[in-house]
Amino acid sequence: MSRAPDIQTTAQLIASGDRRALARAITLVESARADHRAQALDLLGALGTQRQALRIGLSGTPGVGKSTFIEAFGLMLTAQGLKVAVLAIDPSSARSGGSILGDKTRMERLARAPLAFIRPSPSQTHLGGVARRTREAVALCEAAGFDLVLIETVGVGQSETMVAQLCDLFILLMAPAGGDELQGVKRGIMEMADMILVNKADGDLKAAALRTRADYAGALRLLRRRSQDPEGFPQAVCVSSVETTGLAAAWEQMQSLADWRRAEGHWAARRAAQAQHWFSEEVRIGLLSALSREPALGAMARLGTEVAQGAKSPEAAAAEMLSLLGRE
Ligand code: GDP
Repeated sequence: MSRAPDIQTTAQLIASGDRRALARAITLVESARADHRAQALDLLGALGTQRQALRIGLSGTPGVGKSTFIEAFGLMLTAQGLKVAVLAIDPSSARSGGSILGDKTRMERLARAPLAFIRPSPSQTHLGGVARRTREAVALCEAAGFDLVLIETVGVGQSETMVAQLCDLFILLMAPAGGDELQGVKRGIMEMADMILVNKADGDLKAAALRTRADYAGALRLLRRRSQDPEGFPQAVCVSSVETTGLAAAWEQMQSLADWRRAEGHWAARRAAQAQHWFSEEVRIGLLSALSREPALGAMARLGTEVAQGAKSPEAAAAEMLSLLGRE
């Protein structure tokens, strides 16, 4: 029996905005089973890439207020009639085998908003798998007609780099700093940021938030990428997710940056560069997985010993290994 009609029906349901079909499709792309993989690729192919959402990546350390912000921001946008999807990446689940973000009851009010769709992170085995399922989940949400896809990640390790490669705008959420030093943000992360939001700019923390914002604004000015940022960007903006202040201003800045990039062709260039990045990444992961198969592992061990014994040079042994893989 051909599976084509099923795929077509599912694709139509997703395109018409059917939530359950979307949720099932995301479960499908999360599956590691070979037959599921084939179906997932068919489905993504059938859906195409006509519809595009604004993809916003959001990162910040635990406790900075990511879920509070996303809920307030998402509610503001859905009140404007925009369809908002939220995907969470939890790299820690790669180690623990469980999903920390998924365990908490988060964003309850946004979850009930008819124009919002929230998908917590599933447990995953490796970052390559997380990246692929998130990328495909983003594509599914775009095909389902969402205006915005928010991709949330905890600010640890490689996940920020991954999210930055997935989104149109990468946003760092920061807390007001106590002292006057920037909060040990790595330069590499700052360089990826399209905007910094200093959250908790309310009550006793407000003065500190204003100072922190000024510090980040100064740092970001030095990091401006002319190919991606108009004059005055990247920006640092104060928000309070609890009092819902600054959210509209932040959204305006995000839109003007996105509009400028669209008009200048940087938007399309960024997506093209990301597609190429993920292509080589998939090939790299495929090669690594070929390498971990039994015959390849045996050859690796054998050649490794020969190199250690001086019987072969590292280069010659590597060339032999690669040609073995090529013949698989
Ligand atoms: P996450 O771990 O980054 O998702 O952070 P949460 O959204 O769970 O927030 C952590 C804590 O910070 C909670 O107690 C929130 O109530 C608090 N919080 C979040 N946003 C704000 C804010 O804008 N102002 C203040 N004062 N507290 C906030």
